[in-house]
Amino acid sequence: MNRHQLPVLNGRVAESSIYADGTRKKIEPAPVHGPYDRARHVVFSVLVAIWVLLPIVPINGHPALFLDVEHRRFFVLGGTFTPQDFWLVFFLASGVGFGLVYATAVLGRVWCGWGCPQTVFTETFFRPIERLTKKKHWLRHILFFLIAAGIAHVFVAYFVSIRALWTMMLGSPTKHPEAFAWMLALTGLFYGNFAFFREQLCVVLCPYGRLQSVLLDDDSLVIAYDEKRGEPRGKKGQTTGDCVDCRRCVVVCPTGIDIRNGLQMDCIACTACIDACDEIMDKLDRPRGLIKYQHGKILRPRVILYSVLMAIGATVFFFATRTRTDFEATLLRQPGPPFVREESGLRNGFVVHVANKTSAPKTYLLEPEPDAGTQYILPMSSVEVAAMSDARVPVFVTAPSDLHGKPKVRIRVRSGEETRVVEAVFLGGS
Ligand code: SF4
Ligand code: SF4
Repeated sequence: MNRHQLPVLNGRVAESSIYADGTRKKIEPAPVHGPYDRARHVVFSVLVAIWVLLPIVPINGHPALFLDVEHRRFFVLGGTFTPQDFWLVFFLASGVGFGLVYATAVLGRVWCGWGCPQTVFTETFFRPIERLTKKKHWLRHILFFLIAAGIAHVFVAYFVSIRALWTMMLGSPTKHPEAFAWMLALTGLFYGNFAFFREQLCVVLCPYGRLQSVLLDDDSLVIAYDEKRGEPRGKKGQTTGDCVDCRRCVVVCPTGIDIRNGLQMDCIACTACIDACDEIMDKLDRPRGLIKYQHGKILRPRVILYSVLMAIGATVFFFATRTRTDFEATLLRQPGPPFVREESGLRNGFVVHVANKTSAPKTYLLEPEPDAGTQYILPMSSVEVAAMSDARVPVFVTAPSDLHGKPKVRIRVRSGEETRVVEAVFLGGS
């Protein structure tokens, strides 16, 4: 087999971004114009604006999205979350994953073609720059690098806040070496991806792309070539099919495939081939839609099952977030032996851990609820906890040496209307 030869399937060249010997075919798709292209660019602009504004626009006094990993607090669309709310991540992760499965079953690869950052950034910034700098590769790569750095800065702003990012940008990198290292690494990663790796991310690396064969079914929305209408293909007047074999749908494809070979894993449903073929059909005065969106039954058992599961998940999430509280309290045993036997009796040491999950300082009242035979020594009956912070208050509980059983150690923690009762077991009794 020759090097740089595309595989042949059923007598036809299987257009692809990878040659039969595994080497890469460089894809530089031709520009395309049409209603889908225009609609996609509107969607891309909105998405880029949202992604850029998320760390800038404040909601409830904090950026709309600020994942403050350093201080373990997370601000998401006006909500404040702490590590104690980590269990909600389960719903978030499974909800996003399931949402994608659901959307794929109904709408096919709409995410890949219309919403994935890989597609959005490539088509909004990198592809136009590439076309404008065909003969100036040095300029192309400078611009690529600058755009990659811009994306990296926005990404880092999600984790350090826009204000901190701005301060860092004005200061010397030696004052914030960690953030600077992240910035460099991300810029390099984005530059390498968007300048060189490109469609290979979708074709080779993306797990979602690899799962398409199980996520799609015969009724999903896909972009398809109307074979009955198009074949036999050939020059105008020489065959009866509507496809004039101009290959325009192939040269505009960002993953380098030929949609006339049927639905392929490499198709990211970008709609470029629809616009390209419609342009040709217009010129030939033939009806549009030789390549088009196509779907079967929308309501089918799989989709109904997914809808029911989505509804259950959304309901559970709704109630889970409603029962979320403004503070957490736990009673921990102090390190060391579980109990101490002294002349005066038995002693157990505990720590009340209080986490304030709100954006304002709060005072928490600690009220012991002694069980039979136990006495409490609390160095403070209230504790002030700063916003998004936590505090620990030691508690000693004593009991007579001849204590029988394991009485409960119970402390009521109160702030305003909210109350939590934390409890543990007193150890050392016979
Ligand atoms: S653009 Fe349309 S007419 Fe041209 S090769 Fe593709 S399917 Fe055939
Ligand atoms: S086949 Fe068409 S829809 Fe699929 S990636 Fe290529 S141009 Fe986009």
